[in-house]
Amino acid sequence: MVQSEDGTSLDTQKMDGIRKSVELDFDHVVWNEGGKSSHSSDIETRPVLVDLLSEIEKGNVKHLYVYNTDRLSRNDQTWSIIRWKLKSNDVVVYTNTGRIDLSNPLDDLLMGLLSEISQYDNKIRTERSRRGKFFKVQQGFYQGGPPPYGYKNEKKRLVENPEESQWVRKMYEMYLNGQSVHEIRRLLNQNQVTPRRKKPYWSLGSINKILRNTIYVGWYDYTDKKMGETVCVETPVLVDRITWDSVQTRINKTQERKHQINRSKHFYLLRDFMVCGHCGQKMSGKIGANNHFYYCPRKERNWVKDDNYEGTWDRGRGCSMVRSLNIGRTDQIVWDSILKIVKESKTLREQYRQEVLRKVTKSREKSVSISKKLEKSRKSLKKDLREVEQTIADFETSILLKRHSGDPEQIREKLNQELELVKEKLSGVDQEEKHLRDSQRWVNWLDQFENDVDSKKDYSDEEKKEFLEGVLEKIVVHYDKDQNKHSLEIEFNLPIVQDELSYLNPGRPIDGWEVLEGSSRFVNELPVNQGGRPRGS
Ligand SMILES: [Zn+2]
Repeated sequence: MVQSEDGTSLDTQKMDGIRKSVELDFDHVVWNEGGKSSHSSDIETRPVLVDLLSEIEKGNVKHLYVYNTDRLSRNDQTWSIIRWKLKSNDVVVYTNTGRIDLSNPLDDLLMGLLSEISQYDNKIRTERSRRGKFFKVQQGFYQGGPPPYGYKNEKKRLVENPEESQWVRKMYEMYLNGQSVHEIRRLLNQNQVTPRRKKPYWSLGSINKILRNTIYVGWYDYTDKKMGETVCVETPVLVDRITWDSVQTRINKTQERKHQINRSKHFYLLRDFMVCGHCGQKMSGKIGANNHFYYCPRKERNWVKDDNYEGTWDRGRGCSMVRSLNIGRTDQIVWDSILKIVKESKTLREQYRQEVLRKVTKSREKSVSISKKLEKSRKSLKKDLREVEQTIADFETSILLKRHSGDPEQIREKLNQELELVKEKLSGVDQEEKHLRDSQRWVNWLDQFENDVDSKKDYSDEEKKEFLEGVLEKIVVHYDKDQNKHSLEIEFNLPIVQDELSYLNPGRPIDGWEVLEGSSRFVNELPVNQGGRPRGS
């Protein structure tokens, strides 16, 4: 069996084998694998080897010459298959160094060893070439493979490919001028500009990649994962930095916007809380062009269509929640009633009051130390003021007595400026004190609480949902066929529905009170709109 590889030519291997067969007085057949590599791990990709193995199985091959055992396979698994076949069919193996009998335990061991050595060799070889590649890249050579669009590989270095680079620049320019990736693609295809890959047309993804790639502003990172090292490789600049940066900004903005649109398109305020009261399934939502609705995904119509469903329900029956709920109307009614309950809840008011008291106590403590500081600075400022006033008086006296030389106007101006400054600082201290006193006034926490609840009406959708997550457990939806209405049982995580205050001393609220738990459930009823059965529901 021969292979073209490494130093030994096919002919040498073949002649060696034939010589051996003559020497032993055997008939010979040459199994020439040509360029097929023993690196190849799949037996399937080596038809000659497969033929050989099947002849061995039939008992037609009793002696096998290979130039070197690693010609058979460098792959552990493949090699063990081959070895097992050779051994179980009593094939004697010869190599350029002599005869190997696989039934002889020593030879067997040797074969195994040789194969392991050749595998080890292979590992070292790939390791060496990997490191070699990294160091080449470090020296500025291209890593190999097809060069990125806009470049060509010249003497293993990236150089500009003018035929392509003009289009790279055009892409950046168009995008910067507000044109879309679709428009860029249209232009490229119209001009029969082809990408490097097999496909004759540009994909949006490949254009996006070009618009994102730092290689066009002159660098890219090459990482050797095994070594964990990264080298920054310089490349010929095709696009200037300002253009490149602006393009990145536009891409990011576009993506952000897309993300937001997607979110609002699929936003459901209540869906995640809603459970079908008939079958226990989580409710679904659908936002279509003409109608937006919540519905039970197991309702009859869908049910009949779903042939693959294997559940506990009888085929064809489905869920009896056959009417869907209009999203806008449901959201409005449920949100309003939740806010009303929250606003009236004594439990939540009490919680809020406690929180306010805690804050007030804290700020009182803080304000005592602030007020001390203010008093101190007031004293020192007043002292400053007296000094400046005294200086001005002395100065004016010396002018009057004509004891003074130099420009009196300049000095007077400076002294007056100093005076104003100190006065200003003093009034600042006064204001701060007033502010501090104001903040210590009695806090009307109930007003604050109600304002706080009312302000939730202006929440964004996301904020509303976040608030609901804090107070809601779930919403169980029922449909009453006879009355043609839905009922929504809102379950709160606290018993805040119609909770009450009980005063310890009914005549004297000031003696304190306790909060009596209410219910944690509240039911909203929604009649189904007449004729309001939306399509697809
Ligand atoms: Zn259901």
